[in-house]
Amino acid sequence: MKTCFRLCVFVTLLFSGHSNPIAPLAGGDQDTLAENYLTRLYGLPKQPAQSPSSSGGEKRSSDMSLRLKEMQQFFKLKVTGKLDQETLEVMKKPRCGVPDIKAYSTFPGDYKWKKHQLTYRIENYTLDMSVAEVDDSISRALKVWADVTPLRFTRIYSGTADIMIFFATGDHGDGYPFDGPNGFLAHAYPPYEGVGGDAHFDDDETFSYRSPQYYTLFSVAAHEFGHSLGLGHSRDPGALMYPTYVYRDMDRFILPRDDVNGIQSLYGPNTDVNTDDSKPTPPVTPNTCDPNLVLDAVTMLRGEIMFFKNSFFWRSYPQSPDVELQLIQSFWPEIPDNIDAAFESVIQDKVFLIKGEKVWALYGYDIVQGYPKSLSMFRLRKNVKKIDAVLYKEDSNTILFFANNQVYSYNERMKKMDKGFPKPVQKVFPGMTGKVTAAFQYRGFNYLFSGSKMLEFGSNNKLLRVLNNNYFLPCK
Ligand SMILES: [Zn+2]
Ligand SMILES: [Zn+2]
Repeated sequence: MKTCFRLCVFVTLLFSGHSNPIAPLAGGDQDTLAENYLTRLYGLPKQPAQSPSSSGGEKRSSDMSLRLKEMQQFFKLKVTGKLDQETLEVMKKPRCGVPDIKAYSTFPGDYKWKKHQLTYRIENYTLDMSVAEVDDSISRALKVWADVTPLRFTRIYSGTADIMIFFATGDHGDGYPFDGPNGFLAHAYPPYEGVGGDAHFDDDETFSYRSPQYYTLFSVAAHEFGHSLGLGHSRDPGALMYPTYVYRDMDRFILPRDDVNGIQSLYGPNTDVNTDDSKPTPPVTPNTCDPNLVLDAVTMLRGEIMFFKNSFFWRSYPQSPDVELQLIQSFWPEIPDNIDAAFESVIQDKVFLIKGEKVWALYGYDIVQGYPKSLSMFRLRKNVKKIDAVLYKEDSNTILFFANNQVYSYNERMKKMDKGFPKPVQKVFPGMTGKVTAAFQYRGFNYLFSGSKMLEFGSNNKLLRVLNNNYFLPCK
């Protein structure tokens, strides 16, 4: 698993002129970490230098609790007002250095450019990448925003640009020192005269052009320029303006719908674009509260349940009431979006993900070498080019493939198709009249999804219940 982005977060500087300088996050115990985090990002007043009186101490802890609640609300955690393990985990993630404060998508007040022609200047370079790679990452990150607005960016090489860009470490003269590797990766200022619009990158990070093992400059810069243009952080975990770092493949990046809505609320749409249909549709983050949600695939992975939808997947841990939404590409850059089917082979301790005629295998969260392989590895009929769903039956080590309303039963131990298959789905699972879109086995029950419904079958394939498909994905 790529731990790097789970540990890294961006933070943005909201009102540079109005906030106090902030202590770095690294070091200290958990309480110090939490206090620094809330001071820097959630407006907790700085602790007075003198030791507080007992009543002051009480006030302090109620202040802390209030800010903790705001933070837990922002990240859709359980709102306890206490520093629990889950909250601490989020605080440790690498992120942008701009405060979250509230769930707005633009900065409060009038932070927007009054003109559409903007200039930018790259003042210096990181040694992590070539000059051409930095230039290209920056220009592509600006293009993300120019593509959907009337804003146009021109590069200048001297003088003061609207958006001044530089790399720096530690204290770099603006009262917001960087904090060494990880933690805060970059920050940027909303539009106003002077430092407004400027974007600073922490050169203690290792930036890369494309390599997902490091922080890709494109991903960080595209987010920061959202601030430079007037956007604050978004609570939508699929949004580019979500505060924590996520790897994004710049060649297939499409600005999500939430960010498009945010920036167009400030500047309107791009009027230059001919409205042909070739434009990619901005992706909408799937929502567990959507009663019409149709999942692509579901599988177990060593006790977790994974639900796939478009470019995302949810991870659900049986011990936790919360589910976590992730981008597929941020975990496995080489695995495509919109997968067809997934299952866990208990014998091999691997998870298989299928799209079209390609099969990827995961061991834990790592892609197994030698994959993708061809779907023919499962010895299905040659005319089967696409799988709708797969159900792995643990008791018999059989893999049931659903394709074209037929079930293929593959015996994993014998490595061959069971006799008498394929059979119509309805013969094997009486009551399953629609197309099976996803399937998994959990605690001895077989769950078959059909559109937005989920059917629960017993181990003998008898239909027990028809449930909504968010039965395992609670709406919050
Ligand atoms: Zn940010
Ligand atoms: Zn700075």
